[in-house]
Amino acid sequence: MKITKADFVTSSSNHNQCPEADFPEFAFIGRSNVGKSSLINMLTNHKKLAKVSGKPGKTQLINHFLINESWYLVDLPGYGWAKVAKTEKEKWGAMIHDYLITRKNLICIFVLVDSRLAPQPIDVDFINWLGEQGLPLAIVFTKADKQSKNKTQSSVAKYKKHLLKYWEKLPDSLVTSSQTGTGKEELLNYIDGLISA
Ligand code: GDP
Repeated sequence: MKITKADFVTSSSNHNQCPEADFPEFAFIGRSNVGKSSLINMLTNHKKLAKVSGKPGKTQLINHFLINESWYLVDLPGYGWAKVAKTEKEKWGAMIHDYLITRKNLICIFVLVDSRLAPQPIDVDFINWLGEQGLPLAIVFTKADKQSKNKTQSSVAKYKKHLLKYWEKLPDSLVTSSQTGTGKEELLNYIDGLISA
């Protein structure tokens, strides 16, 4: 699939404000700084469609983009800011929980993790929670250009081994780099495949 049109639709502070669930929807989420905005901009061939990470404490919103007039790409606020107050974290948790649980047209949640890092509890807990809820997810290993292919492969293998402690059948995963375009076609084809499934 090629993205020829990407239009910002709306920012919502809760699931009730989200647009009608009239197109298939794909959400992107991850720890702040994982490379989510860069990935969304790379996928959509835009320099600034997704805004580079907001500062901690800034209002966190669910951003809908309509792609090729046929599916929604959703930029969800990142988690893991060290300095965010507990009340803000709780607000984030409730907003994301309600959105993920109620959004009927949600086809896949892409959870982004840094391909260089060992499994981080905050990510693994989130991935496992999605699994427990029976929500559809795929893992996107980001920033692959930052190390050798071998290192990425070994890091991804370690990650999967870790997840096998909790999962019988692992979620799908993809490796990407927004710098080099690695994984762009695979990710777009993955979305295409799910839309046509
Ligand atoms: P977000 O907070 O998850 O939206 O992360 P950003 O997309 O803003 O990226 C955080 C930082 O990582 C920025 O300095 C980006 O330039 C850098 N970055 C993001 N993706 C990549 C990548 O694929 N390769 C490299 N080398 N840097 C990246």
